[in-house]
Amino acid sequence: MSAAMPAFSIDPARTAWCAELRALAADRLRPLAEKGEPGRVNRPLVAELGRLGLLSRLFTSGAVDLCLMRESLAYACTEAETALALQGLGARPVHAHGTPAQRRRWLPDVAEGSAVAAFALSEPGAGSDAAALSLAAERDGTDGWRLTGEKRWISNAPEADFYTVFARTTPGAGARGVTAFLLPADRPGLTGSALDMLSPHPIGALRLDAVPVTADDVLGEPDRGFRVAMGTLDLFRPSVGAFAVGMAQAALDATLAHTASRDAFGGKLRDLQTVSHQVAEMALRTEAARLMVHAAATAYDAAAPDVPRRAAMAKLLATETAQYVVDAAVQLHGACALRRGHLLEHLYREVRAPRIYEGASEVQRGIIARELYAEHAGRAEPGAGVGHTEPAGRHVPAAPPDRSAQADRSAQAVQTAQAERAERAERAERAEREAR
Ligand SMILES: Cc1cc2nc3c(=O)[nH]c(=O)nc-3n(C[C@H](O)[C@H](O)[C@H](O)COP(=O)(O)OP(=O)(O)OC[C@H]3O[C@@H](n4cnc5c(N)ncnc54)[C@H](O)[C@@H]3O)c2cc1C
Repeated sequence: MSAAMPAFSIDPARTAWCAELRALAADRLRPLAEKGEPGRVNRPLVAELGRLGLLSRLFTSGAVDLCLMRESLAYACTEAETALALQGLGARPVHAHGTPAQRRRWLPDVAEGSAVAAFALSEPGAGSDAAALSLAAERDGTDGWRLTGEKRWISNAPEADFYTVFARTTPGAGARGVTAFLLPADRPGLTGSALDMLSPHPIGALRLDAVPVTADDVLGEPDRGFRVAMGTLDLFRPSVGAFAVGMAQAALDATLAHTASRDAFGGKLRDLQTVSHQVAEMALRTEAARLMVHAAATAYDAAAPDVPRRAAMAKLLATETAQYVVDAAVQLHGACALRRGHLLEHLYREVRAPRIYEGASEVQRGIIARELYAEHAGRAEPGAGVGHTEPAGRHVPAAPPDRSAQADRSAQAVQTAQAERAERAERAERAEREAR
């Protein structure tokens, strides 16, 4: 662990904001979620998130606030949490790397909840090994490409209004030959279908058949799209952990209520020491996961050098913990938890996917281990470990954090940190190039 461990604490104003968000989720968002169709985009729900001003916060909040939003919404309405997160995942690349025209065209609608965004990286043959993606971008004239191939497991597909799509512009170049495109859903040649999953998550596959794109559709620079993807995931990984912590807390609170009121063996369930100790263990692990999520988010906002490792640790610990806590909650509720429509039956289905998406748990362990060994061996110069280490050992410098990610800090500190981080990333990249 680096010597410069960031300090963090959640101030009373933010704690009150979280309580407000939990109440909004229960009173305003839950009823809309219940009217939605499982596995499909719920546009009234997205619009309400916009009306409540939560979507615009995706572009003004740092990682800590993003985590607090996700945890609070997840506590009372997982569908609302997911709808919010997916708007962020699809639109943050536009916010961070888009041209003024791209930002003007899409970001106000995303913030209002009238446009639905999606992030299309995974393919049938490229999941964990995302740098192996093969969706082909073939040159079409001097200023354009044609996109051909398939994307799969894309949240909000095929109903999104636009996609941040990652395509191969340079064959054989691995992570360095990928370009990010902003693809409106009405482009000719783009079709898709919904996929039916265990959880009520809106998700589908996309088919691209010579879809035309031009330089105006590029996000960032050609062949530098992997930085766009990894920079986005650096931000979102701890917040997947926050989603998991919200679910764990909901399961824990339901278990406290249940075990305190359920009659058994002449007393209440909680009077059995095995039961109360199990509840204590659930609380212990949930709190540990929450603290690690907050630490990772704080490190991101501070543009700390060890963000990839912290983000991976937070995502790994929180999603695995939530699985444990929800499972234990089901056990302590007995049969009633498994009845269709019970909170825990819902959470049991919801809690599984986050251990797979945005980097499976095994991939997170790989990132953590490689960052540790790189630091230990002194291969990375001080502060150079800002990149994302791919499972196959490719080291990809991370994009500098979004401008909005440091909303709570002074503008000068933000600019300095960003410049330093970008410079470190460039240095690491140059050293890697020279080493090859
Ligand atoms: C609900 C849901 C929503 C999703 N939303 C999106 C989205 O919006 N956009 C998008 O682009 N993708 C999305 N995905 C796809 C997701 O990112 C991939 O599923 C994920 O990257 C894993 O890829 P895979 O499923 O192909 O599994 P694989 O890559 O085939 O891996 C299968 C398993 O192999 C093991 N494994 C893989 N790599 C390693 C390794 N390096 N070391 C050790 N073990 C390893 C792990 O156990 C892993 O779970 C979503 C997935 C789900 C389930």
